Amino acid sequence: MSRYWSELARGLSPYLPGEQPRIPGLVKLNTNESPFGPSPMAIEAIRLAASDTLRLYPDPQSTRLREVLAEYHGVVPEQVFVGNGSDEVLAHAFAALLKQSKPVLFPDVTYSFYPVYCRLLGIDHEAIPLDGKMNVRIADYRDRGGSIIIANPNAPTGIALSRAEIERLVSMRADVPVVIDEAYVDFGAESATPLIHDYSNLLVVQTLSKSRALAGLRVGYAIGDRALIEALTRVKDSFNSYPLGQPAQAGAIAAIQDEADFQQKRSIIIENRDNLTASLIQLGFDVLPSSANFVFARHPSHTGQALSAALRERAILVRHFSGPRVSDFIRITVGSKADLDRLTDALAEFLETPP
Ligand code: PMP
Repeated sequence: MSRYWSELARGLSPYLPGEQPRIPGLVKLNTNESPFGPSPMAIEAIRLAASDTLRLYPDPQSTRLREVLAEYHGVVPEQVFVGNGSDEVLAHAFAALLKQSKPVLFPDVTYSFYPVYCRLLGIDHEAIPLDGKMNVRIADYRDRGGSIIIANPNAPTGIALSRAEIERLVSMRADVPVVIDEAYVDFGAESATPLIHDYSNLLVVQTLSKSRALAGLRVGYAIGDRALIEALTRVKDSFNSYPLGQPAQAGAIAAIQDEADFQQKRSIIIENRDNLTASLIQLGFDVLPSSANFVFARHPSHTGQALSAALRERAILVRHFSGPRVSDFIRITVGSKADLDRLTDALAEFLETPP
């Protein structure tokens, strides 16, 4: 019996979201976290929820949070599903929606969670190559396969499709569910949420981990037609998946309501990204046009692995990937100005050092 389990486990590939070392002084630009703390209103709400309500079980439906999200996005609460991070929401979307119409299509390259989840759930999938400039080409999704999941902006490229292109996709593939993963949408891309009213096959997934600086709270959500949300809820309930705890529900509500804090922090990240892009280009990098809180960049003389190793020696973490289209690149999270200055100084020093 134990051999059965170990063989089963060997067939699975882990999803590893990136290192989380806790080393003082380390510049951590590898997992697309916010350089800022969350909204002070969210922290206060979490503190209050922790002191007043932890004795009790949480509201299993996250009713108030779903109401606040519905109002924010101009839908009704029955069109909102919440989960412990958007990874959990996506996991339920694979099981409840995408699995029904195979093979699931997604770009090659994209968020590494998608193929891992397909393998875990035994879902056939087909990865559709990006074009020569690493863009997702909507026309390639026309006459093939089953349901579709696309990260917009895509990861790790950071390149975004316009809302008009997403509309073309959901209307041309009205026969299947289309999931748009908008983890990074707040940094300059157009959200597909307004299309929810016209397309019952569209599910938009968002997170509070990036632009709301709450990666540690684990709150993600989906917006879509009532029937899609009902399917997600049914699958979630049958997995006995846990509802969000009170601190997560209360903190998320306050974060969504603190519009001023959100706008201020996201505009600084966009400004830092544009400055980082300019500095990298000056250092000889080729930088993809990013609408996210990270940039994907390559240097003509060094692989992604060599660059990230050189940075690691200088106590700076960035992400590199393996694979034919991506191994030349490093993905750099847009951090604080001070962290990005350290990064560009370290890169300048490495690039000037003779081999
Ligand atoms: N989608 C994409 C494209 C991501 O990069 C991430 C973060 N790694 C997620 C979803 C999941 O984020 P979270 O679970 O923190 O909401």
